[in-house]
This record gives sequence, C-alpha cells and structure tokens, in this order.
Amino acid sequence: MPVQPEYNILLVEDDPDHATLINRAFETEAHCRLVITTSLAQAKSLINHTPPDLVITDIRLPDGQGTELLASATGFPTIVMTSHGDEKVAVSAIKSGAAEYIVKTQESLASLPRTANRVMREWRLVIDQKLARERQQRLTAILEATPDLICIANLDGFLTYINQSGRNLLGIGKNEDIRRIRLADFHSPADGQKILSEGIPQAIREGMWTDETTFMSLNGDKVLTSQVLISHRNNLGEIEFFSTIARDIRHLRAAEERVQFLAYYDTLTGLPNRNELAKRLDMEVVRVRRNQSFGALFFIDLDNFKNINDSLGHPAGDLVLQEIAQRLKGQVRGDDTVARLGGDEFIVILSSLSRDGRQAISRAREIANKIRDTISMECRIHETDLRVTASIGISMISEEATSGHDLLRFADTAMYEAKREGRNRLEFFSESMSSEVTRQLELENQLHRALKEDQFRLHYQPLVNTAMEIIGAEALIRWENPELGLVAPAEFLDVLESSGQIVDVGGWVIETALKQMTLWMEQGLVAEDFMLCINISPRQFRDAQFAENIHGQLARVNVPSQNIMMEVTEHNIIHNLDDAILRMKELNHSGISFSLDDFGTGYSSLAHLKNLPVNHIKIDRSFVRDICDDPGDQAMVASILALSKHLGLEVVAEGVEALDQFHLLKQYGCKIYQGYYFSAPLSPDKMTRYLETKLPSE
Ligand code: C2E
Ligand code: CA
Ligand code: CA
Repeated sequence: MPVQPEYNILLVEDDPDHATLINRAFETEAHCRLVITTSLAQAKSLINHTPPDLVITDIRLPDGQGTELLASATGFPTIVMTSHGDEKVAVSAIKSGAAEYIVKTQESLASLPRTANRVMREWRLVIDQKLARERQQRLTAILEATPDLICIANLDGFLTYINQSGRNLLGIGKNEDIRRIRLADFHSPADGQKILSEGIPQAIREGMWTDETTFMSLNGDKVLTSQVLISHRNNLGEIEFFSTIARDIRHLRAAEERVQFLAYYDTLTGLPNRNELAKRLDMEVVRVRRNQSFGALFFIDLDNFKNINDSLGHPAGDLVLQEIAQRLKGQVRGDDTVARLGGDEFIVILSSLSRDGRQAISRAREIANKIRDTISMECRIHETDLRVTASIGISMISEEATSGHDLLRFADTAMYEAKREGRNRLEFFSESMSSEVTRQLELENQLHRALKEDQFRLHYQPLVNTAMEIIGAEALIRWENPELGLVAPAEFLDVLESSGQIVDVGGWVIETALKQMTLWMEQGLVAEDFMLCINISPRQFRDAQFAENIHGQLARVNVPSQNIMMEVTEHNIIHNLDDAILRMKELNHSGISFSLDDFGTGYSSLAHLKNLPVNHIKIDRSFVRDICDDPGDQAMVASILALSKHLGLEVVAEGVEALDQFHLLKQYGCKIYQGYYFSAPLSPDKMTRYLETKLPSE
C-alpha cells in the first residue's frame, strides 16, 4: 500500500460546537491529524513551533481576526471560515492570500475535509510547479555558464536552443532566430557529411555518438571540437529531439602536438631525433625493397666539437649545432631526412638515389662531399669565425638491408674508420668492416647466452701490504666458454660495453662478488677492513639506476659498504665530470670508496685528483713493468707517490711481477701491491684456500 502523506491541520475555532462538528467530519480522514486551538495567540505560537500543512481558521476569534494568520502563512495554505453576512470579509481574506473560504453551514462544515484535501492538492501542485521552474532556471544557468557549446535540435536538425558559448563559438547574434539555423551548416563539409551518414544513425541506434569535428565559425575560425551527439526519446520510445555538446579542444590538441614533437624531434635544432629517425629508417628499408632503388645513410660526426664547447661555452656550441642543422637541410631534397642523434652526431638519409648501384654510390659520394664542404664553411658565432669539420661514414641502403638498426651501425663503423684515417673525410662501409661487424654481432649473441647460461666466472687477485699480508682482492671477470675455455676480459669487454650488455653483466659481477665476500666473512677469513675491489665500466657507471642497484644489492647481503672499493678509470668520469663527481659522492656517502684505475695512462694530471672523490689510485702496470730500468717511469712513480701522500691518497701498485719491483716501490713509499709476484688472479676455491693458509697455492 502506498504510504499516504500525513497532513497536520491546525484548526483555529473558538466555537466548541463548530469545532466538534469539524473534528467529527475529519474522523474518517485517517491521513489528517487535526490540532484544535481556540485563540489567535495560541495558533501563532503553534505555527511558529511546527508549521502545519494547512490552517483552517474562523474569522472572528476572541483575541482578534483569523485573517491575521495569513501574514505568516507562506509555507502552507489557509482556509477561512465565515458566518453569514461576513462574505465581504471573506473576499478581502482571499485577496490577502487565503486559499479558500467557506461560509459556515451544516453542509459546508461536513464537507470541509474534501475542501481541505482539494486545497492542499492545489497548493502542492503550485509548489511543485514553482520548484520545477526553479530547477529549470538553475539548469539553464548552468548551460549558459558552461564554456562548451550546448544545443538542442529538433528532428529536422533545426535548433531549438543554443547556449551562450555556442553562440559565441559560431558567431550567432543575440537576436538571431535560431529556429532557422542548423548546426550542420557550421560544420566543415566533410564533417557535415560524417554527421549525417555516421553520427545521426549511430545516435539513433545507440543513443549517442562522439567524435572530433571541426566547426567553421562565422568569423572564419576553424574550431576543432570533441563533439557528443545524443538522441532523446519520449515515454513511447520515439525520438523527440537531439542534443549536442561540443568542446573546443584546440589548446588540448596544441599541447598534445607539442608533446609529440618533444618525443620525436630535437628541441635544439628542430630536426627529427633518434626515435623519429628509427621510424623513418625502417620505412626507408621497406621503400628500397619495394622500389629497388638504392638509398644511403650518412653518419656525420663533427671533429673536435668538444673544443668549441670547452673554449666558447655550451651556448656557442648550441649555435654551431643549429647552424649545421640548417646547412645540412639545405643540401638534401624534401624526401630525404636530416636527423640529430644527439651531441654532435647527425644522420642523413638519402632516399631513391638510383636503381643502379654504382651510380647510387657515386651520387652518395658527391652529396657527402658537398655536405663536408658546407659543414667546413666558416661559421660566425659571437663575433668569432669558427671552422668545424666532419667525419662521415656512409652505408648504402640496398634491397639486402636488414634493419635500420644495422644500417646505423654500419655507418657508425665507417665513420669511426674515417676518424681513424685522419678526420674531415668520408668513408664507405665496406666488406671488411662488414665482417668485423658480423663478428661483433655474433660475439654479442654469445655473450648474451653466456650471462643466461651462467658462463661468467669471477677470479680474485689478492692485494697485499708491505708485509705481504692479504688486505684485499680485486674481482676480475672471466668467461668460461664451452669451446674456447677461460676467456680473458680483453676479448669481450669492449663488446659488452658498446652493446650495453655491461650493465647487466656488471650487475652480475657485483652480486657475485658480494656473495663471495659474505661467505668469506662467515668463515672468518677476512679482516674487518678487507677491501673488495670491483671494476666498474663507464657505461655501467653512467647507468641511471646504478647507485640505486648497488644500494639494493648491499641491502640483501651482510657486507658493510665500507669493504667495497669501486675501481673506475678516467674514461668513466671525464665524459661528464660534474655528474660523475656527484654520483661518486653519493656512493661515498653510503660508505663505498673509489679507486682510480690505470692511473697515469689517461689525461688527468695529479693536480686534477684533488677535485675527485677518490681514496685510492692504482698506478698502471705499464709504469711498474719497467720501473727498475726506466728512469722516466721511476720519476713518474716517485712523484705519483709523493703527491698522493700529500693529497692523502692511498696508492696501489699493480702488475708487480718481481721482487726488485716490490723493493723499489716500497722504497718510494708505496703501501699496497698487486701482481703476479704475490699471486695471479685465483679461482674462488683457490682464493679461499689462500685466505685460509695465507699461502699462495701455486
Ligand atoms: P685491470 O683493472 O687493470 O686489472 C688488472 C689486470 O692486470 C687483470 O687483467 C690482471 O689479471 C692483470 N694482472 C694482474 N697482475 C699482473 C701482473 O703482475 N702482470 C701483468 N702483466 N698483468 C697482471 P684481466 O683480469 O685480464 O683484466 C683486464 C681488464 O679487464 C681489467 O684491467 C679491467 O679493466 C677489466 N675487467 C676485469 N674484470 C672486470 C669486471 O668485472 N668489470 C669490468 N668493468 N671490467 C673488468
Ligand atoms: Ca682494476
Ligand atoms: Ca688497472
């Protein structure tokens, strides 16, 4: 049963007979709760306390006129009762807001419940209408305030409503009759067609259609929007009208395009970057196969560009790169691509040079020479005339081209050849280079397998003090190749480095060395200040996750970071000195120390050292080798040792092979030694035995 609303009715009647009559009449109205009061004052206080749903009041009351209640009667209707002869008063009551009046008779009092119900019903209706009107006004206010275009159209497509933003967008004037306007008239012809053939049918079928559309506003702007078209049905399921919401997405699109641009173009020169280049190269490979017409790829590397950056500063360097980018673009056709790989490396793809191989090669050479010439033309930067030259490696793109990646590699190899041959020249990728690349690729694959199949080993070479006691060990990698046996790192490190595999392999080295160290610690074989030296390659060191990985690995084992010594070479750090120093400091902070490996072979002067967060340097074994016979090496080693002492650096002499070398180094003040004289690098078992017995096993 539906719940009937309960009505609270306040009856203000001082005549007890009338009150009884009315009360009786309402007895059958279960949903009405009648509260009876006899005075105006009481009625007012009751109304104040709980406003009723209806007030029925006699006009004449002991303490005043019942019509006085009308003033406060805003939330409910009032029925006024009069006696005969008071009709005038009743009429004025209606004027001042009473909902109804009755003249008291037997019948009118008996039918008062009916009158009351009707009055309350009508009152509700009025209230509901008022609420609905208010709601609609609010919705319209929202529609008018929103920045999106919102409109309603009838089945013929003519507008029945459009909000202010819509008018603004399309340029529709305030007084224009929108009923003669169809939204479709404002679409581009293609989009108008799309809405007719696709949008409306789908909105009819599925209720809604959305897509991106373009509006042509009256002032001639093309406005790209995201448009929604909705069909609205009545109770019978028939479509009554369509509504459209369209949002101007021009800014959004511009931002998206900017993001796209940043992902695929170099911001400095506006040229395609590595990502875009990769795409275009792959397309080029496909095109060459289809057209059977040769193309060429140039790998262009500026010679000594670093000098410009170093001497004139990066902003000047940037200007040079921008200038060169422009010059390169001037040398190629529209179909060709000029891209910047990064740094001072540019790539040019020439497409469809010729169907004839020889001719294609000769054209490529011609263009490459022209490019070399334009690059080496003087370039005026900040009042200074500069001349840059370039080394160019060329790889022809033929039907046999396997992938863009390989082509880049070939051209890169040829470019290096050009550098080796003296720079400012071009070099074609050749058969012999090709076999070298193939060999490298094979090796790369084998090394990939080696890591997966656990073929790498770590050997350990002891570090000793002047009393020849072991104070540490350097972990050195070996590759136990199933066919070749134990392979030395010189054979494969370069490939690991250039292919990037060193990052994973280096991770393996660290993990393995730490595990070994844990074992030795558990067996009580190493002193508290034992130095576990681990070689870190440039690429590994530059890897963004390097420090994080180390911390992760250290957290998993019980080796204090104070026992870890990382050996880096100047190559590691010279590349990006500031960044490297930051990284080293960060690792220093967590207790790890650094040792500068192969010292003396690189560029750095001793003075340079004081800026580096290193604790040890390792004198390269080439100085140690001839130290007993070569006065130059003697002087070098002696000064390294003297200065290091001054700078508070420990020195390790590596490659000590003989007793007299040891004695001489000791005499110069060296404290730590490594070399065959004490022990060759040892397998983990042999090293363990060495630590146990303090005796070399061989
Ligand atoms: P390095 O860091 O200079 O390591 C010392 C090299 O000298 C080792 O060669 C060692 O076997 C050798 N050596 C030790 N004592 C003597 C001696 O008395 N006389 C002579 N002539 N040589 C001695 P190895 O093990 O072949 O390693 C070569 C290079 O490979 C290392 O040079 C290091 O730069 C690199 N390397 C080795 N293991 C790793 C590794 O795990 N990661 C990285 N990134 N590089 C490694
Ligand atoms: Ca080393
Ligand atoms: Ca070394």
